[in-house]
Amino acid sequence: MADPELSTQSGGYDVELFLDTPDYDLICTICQGVLRCPVRAACQHIFCKKCILQWLKRQETCPCCRKPVNPSLIFVMFKLSKAIGRMKIKCKNDIRGCAETFPLSEQYCHNMSCQYELISCPYQGCRAQLLRRDLDTHARHCEHWRQPCHMGCGTILSHRTQSQHNCYKQLKQEYEARQRSHRAIATALQRKMRRMQSTMAHMKRQIGLICDSLEVMDDLQEAEEEELGESSSSSSGTSGSNT
Ligand SMILES: [Zn+2]
Ligand SMILES: [Zn+2]
Ligand SMILES: [Zn+2]
Ligand SMILES: [Zn+2]
Ligand SMILES: [Zn+2]
Repeated sequence: MADPELSTQSGGYDVELFLDTPDYDLICTICQGVLRCPVRAACQHIFCKKCILQWLKRQETCPCCRKPVNPSLIFVMFKLSKAIGRMKIKCKNDIRGCAETFPLSEQYCHNMSCQYELISCPYQGCRAQLLRRDLDTHARHCEHWRQPCHMGCGTILSHRTQSQHNCYKQLKQEYEARQRSHRAIATALQRKMRRMQSTMAHMKRQIGLICDSLEVMDDLQEAEEEELGESSSSSSGTSGSNT
């Protein structure tokens, strides 16, 4: 059950990609692919690094000769790895029409620019899958195509709006809209100010009234205290000396 899982997860390079059939001793016995990052165990058997590490997780014996294998005693074979990297392969997109051949080590670079690579349309919302070489043609018609105006006015254009787009009109419209909104903000601010001013005036009046009534109360209290002081000056004098 675990074997097919091993071969798909960690496999070496697909034998079919190589222009010349690879030698038998370049094949990993675990995944049956061409060795990817080859490592040698103490028993001299060679495997892809990932393949053997995954194998050793289950049992620490060599899959070829059953001798015990110490996972810390496996060595990367740099020279062999480089030699494999120099082997010529064809593009994985040859079924779609790519006829290029190149050393295995350049596979990644080629894939990044292969004109026959299947890619998704880069415009948001578009689900089209197409060959890289058809991207320009597709983009000319893609309804999800969006690009900022090349004159730099800041408008994001679609194919539909592009034909009628006029930077001057667009900017004028935006300017007018902005002016309108500024004017609206100014009016709103003025209204707020007026409201605040009337609240302030109201508060001032209230404070005036409070002050007036406080003065009246003060006067009353003073009058009261004076009365009290006159009638009980002797008693307050004695209570003060007690404490
Ligand atoms: Zn392998
Ligand atoms: Zn072995
Ligand atoms: Zn290609
Ligand atoms: Zn598209
Ligand atoms: Zn523009």
